[in-house]
Amino acid sequence: MTTPYDVYIGIGSNLDDPVAQVRQALAELSRLPLTQYIAASRLYRSRPVGPQNQPDFINAVALLRTRLSPLALLDQLQALEQRHRRVRRQHWGPRTLDLDLLLYGSEKVQLPRLCVPHPELQARAFVVLPMAELAPQLTLPDGAEIATLAMTLADANALEVLPDYT
Ligand code: ADP
Ligand code: MG
Repeated sequence: MTTPYDVYIGIGSNLDDPVAQVRQALAELSRLPLTQYIAASRLYRSRPVGPQNQPDFINAVALLRTRLSPLALLDQLQALEQRHRRVRRQHWGPRTLDLDLLLYGSEKVQLPRLCVPHPELQARAFVVLPMAELAPQLTLPDGAEIATLAMTLADANALEVLPDYT
């Protein structure tokens, strides 16, 4: 049996009851094959990247431990996006569900379909802050510390933590 990898999945939604979409995505991620669900961040609300004439996003990050290969995991994530009937109308436009593979252990992947670590990871408060919540000691493959990134980004972005109803 191969050794499992700790992977971080970025979840985003801004259509069709985004909070419910994100919660359902977390439940679905917990049922992926060859994969153990470790933890999820709280839910965050963020202003859209790119076109501003669209609803706010709800974001979260999930930490999983998986024996799926990076591409097999991407296939699973894209199948989940399809099940949420995601329609790509516009680049960076509204979507019912966006699932990004942020980190796959400390591996680096450069393929036409998959780039890991996710190229925008360090620039996005709605990714960095939930990751720092889940794993305050985490160091990224390029040596950057997630806690340091979270401090530098925290003020620049109006990110709101949603109250936990569970
Ligand atoms: P974005 O998430 O940047 O808004 P999309 O979700 O529409 O864009 O993804 C576009 C493509 O990005 C997908 O077809 C996928 O193959 C590719 N991709 C490359 N790297 C990754 C990654 N780390 N996680 C998810 N998708 C990725
Ligand atoms: Mg995506």
